[in-house]
Amino acid sequence: MNRDALLQALAQKPDVTVLIVGGGINGLGVLRELALQGVDALLIDKGDFCSGASAAPSRMIHGGLRYLENGEFRLVRESLRERNLLLQNAPHYVHPLPTTVPIYNWFSGLLPAALRFLGLEQPPVNRGALLVKIGLTLYDLFAGSQRILPRHRFRSRAESLQAHPNLNGDIVCTATYYDAWIAYPERLGLELALDAAAIHPQAHALNYVSLIDGSGEYVTLRDELSGQTVQVRPQMVVNAGGAWIDSVNQALNQPTSFIGGTKGSHLIINHPDLLAALGDEMLFYENADGRICIMFPLLGKVLAGSTDIRIDDPEAAICEADEIAYILESIRQVLPAIDVQPADVVYHFCGVRPLPRMQTATTGQISRDHHCDVIEPTGERTFPVYNLIGGKWTTFRAFAEQVTDTLLQRLGRTRNQTTDSLPIGGGKGYPNNNTARQDWLNRRHAQTGLPTDRLETLLQRYGARAEAVAAFLTAAPDEPLVEHPGYSRREIAFLVTHEQVHHLDDLVLRRTTLALQGELTAALLLELGQITAAALGWSDDQTQSDIERTSQILAKRHGVHLPHTERVP
Ligand SMILES: Cc1cc2nc3c(=O)[nH]c(=O)nc-3n(C[C@H](O)[C@H](O)[C@H](O)COP(=O)(O)OP(=O)(O)OC[C@H]3O[C@@H](n4cnc5c(N)ncnc54)[C@H](O)[C@@H]3O)c2cc1C
Repeated sequence: MNRDALLQALAQKPDVTVLIVGGGINGLGVLRELALQGVDALLIDKGDFCSGASAAPSRMIHGGLRYLENGEFRLVRESLRERNLLLQNAPHYVHPLPTTVPIYNWFSGLLPAALRFLGLEQPPVNRGALLVKIGLTLYDLFAGSQRILPRHRFRSRAESLQAHPNLNGDIVCTATYYDAWIAYPERLGLELALDAAAIHPQAHALNYVSLIDGSGEYVTLRDELSGQTVQVRPQMVVNAGGAWIDSVNQALNQPTSFIGGTKGSHLIINHPDLLAALGDEMLFYENADGRICIMFPLLGKVLAGSTDIRIDDPEAAICEADEIAYILESIRQVLPAIDVQPADVVYHFCGVRPLPRMQTATTGQISRDHHCDVIEPTGERTFPVYNLIGGKWTTFRAFAEQVTDTLLQRLGRTRNQTTDSLPIGGGKGYPNNNTARQDWLNRRHAQTGLPTDRLETLLQRYGARAEAVAAFLTAAPDEPLVEHPGYSRREIAFLVTHEQVHHLDDLVLRRTTLALQGELTAALLLELGQITAAALGWSDDQTQSDIERTSQILAKRHGVHLPHTERVP
C-alpha cells in the first residue's frame, strides 16, 4: 500500500495494534520482530528512517571493550553475541575489523580500574598493558565458544612500529583484537522496514510522519509532507524516540525525564597518508584526557571520532569547531608524523546518544545498557507506553526481541519465530565466499548483460538485493550519471521509487554515501534532483526548493559547503 493510500485507510479505520514512534534502529527492530509474529504495527518517524542517533554511530559493531571498565559485563556479553549474529545475518554490510590499541606503559590504570569496579567514580587514566590484557582476556572469554573472530594478541614495540611506522614512538607495545564495522547503517535500518513489510502486509513504516498529540484513546499524527493530520487508536505505543523520548511523552501529555543524552561527533577525513598509516585496521586509542577515540578506513576515507558532551535539545546537536579541533588533536597525538588539517575534513556528522539520565563524574561512565520503562494507562490515556531507553546499534536485535516479548505477553500472544539467525535485507542469499561470489556475478551477468565489475559494485552497495536492482536497471535504457559515473540514472530512480525517498537529503545522506564520501557537487545535486523529480512528479519549483533544503542541511549539519546552488533550468 502506498503512503497516501495508507494514510487514507488510517483516517477511515484508525485502529492500530502497536504504534511505534521513532524509526531509528530500535523502532525498526521492534517493527520487524512484530511483523514476524504477525502482529499489526505502524511505525512512524518525524524525519527519515535512521536519521537520528542511528545515522551517527562510530559504525562499530562491537562488544564494547570500554564498557568492561564500568562493570557492564552483561552488556558486553550480549553485545558480543549480537556482533557475531550481525556478522552472519548482515554479511553484506557488517565486516570484521582488526583493532589495534597503542599502549604507553605496563602497569598504570590498575588502581582507578579497581576503584571503578568497586563502584567508586574514577575518571579514566592511562590504561597500561596489564589492564588492557585483563580487559581483552575477558572480551575473548565473553565472545563465547563459537569463535567467529580471532583472539587478541600483543605486539612488541618493534613489531608494532614495523606494522604502523607512524605510531607515536612512546608506545611500549600494542594489542590487536577483532570487532566489526558497518558500512551502511542507514541502509541496514531501512532493510528492516522493507523486510517487515514483506513478512507481514499489516506492518507499515512511514517516514515524515510525526506524533504531535495524544490523549484518551487517540494519538494525532501529522504527515510532514502534506501537513495533514490523522488520528489513530493504538492498543499500545512503543516510544522509540531516542533522544526525543521525553518530548514524545510530552506530546502525549505525560511529562517524563528519562533521557540524559550526550552528543558525539565524527569526522570523515580525506588524507591518503592517514589512510595508508591505518592499513585495514582501526586504531582504538586513548586521548590526553583519558577518553577513548577511534579511527578506521571507511570507503576510501578515514572515519575519526568521537566526542561525548551532555546536551538537552537533540535538535541543537551539530559538530562544533572545537570538536573538530579535539578530534584532530587526538590524531596528532597517536600519529604525530601525519599532518591532518581542518581542510582535510570532507564531511562531519553528529548525533545524540539516547542515554538514561544519570549523574556521573564523566559522560563515559553513563551506562550504555538498555531497558524498557512502561508507563501504564491512566484515566486520561487508555494505552500503555513502552519507552526504549539507551541501547547500542549493535544490540538493537536483542533489545527489540526483549521488548517484543513483553508486548506479546500483554497481547496474550506467543512468539512463533526468532530473529537470531534471520538474515537482514540483502544479507539473505548473499554469496559469502569467493567461489559463491564469482558464481553469483557470472549468473547475473548472463541474466542481465551487465558487466561483472558493475555487478560487483551493486553487490557491495545492496547485498543480494543487487539482483532486484540489476533487473530494474536493465528493464529500460540506462546511462551513467554525467556528474558521477559510478551511479546510473536508473539506479537512482530505483532508490527513489523503492526506498521511500521523499527529499534529496534522503538520497545523498542515507540511501547512498555520496555526501559522506565527499563526492557531492552542486552539479551532481542538480542532476540527482532532476532524476528524483521525474520519478516523484515534482514541479521545477519543488525541485529547486528541495535542492536548496539539501544544500542547507549539508552546510549546517555536515560542513559541506557547495560553492553555489545550481538552478533548475
Ligand atoms: C556519536 C555516537 C556514536 C555511537 N557509536 C556507536 C557504535 O559505534 N556502535 C553502536 O553499536 N552504537 C553506537 N551508538 C549508539 C547508537 O547509535 C544508538 O544507541 C542508536 O542508534 C539509538 O537508536 P534509537 O532508535 O533508539 O534512536 P534514534 O536513531 O535517534 O531514533 C529515534 C527516532 O525517533 C524519531 N522521532 C522523535 N520524535 C518523534 C515524533 N514526535 N514523532 C515521530 N518520530 C519521532 C526521530 O526522528 C528519530 O529518527 C552511537 C551513538 C552516537 C550518538
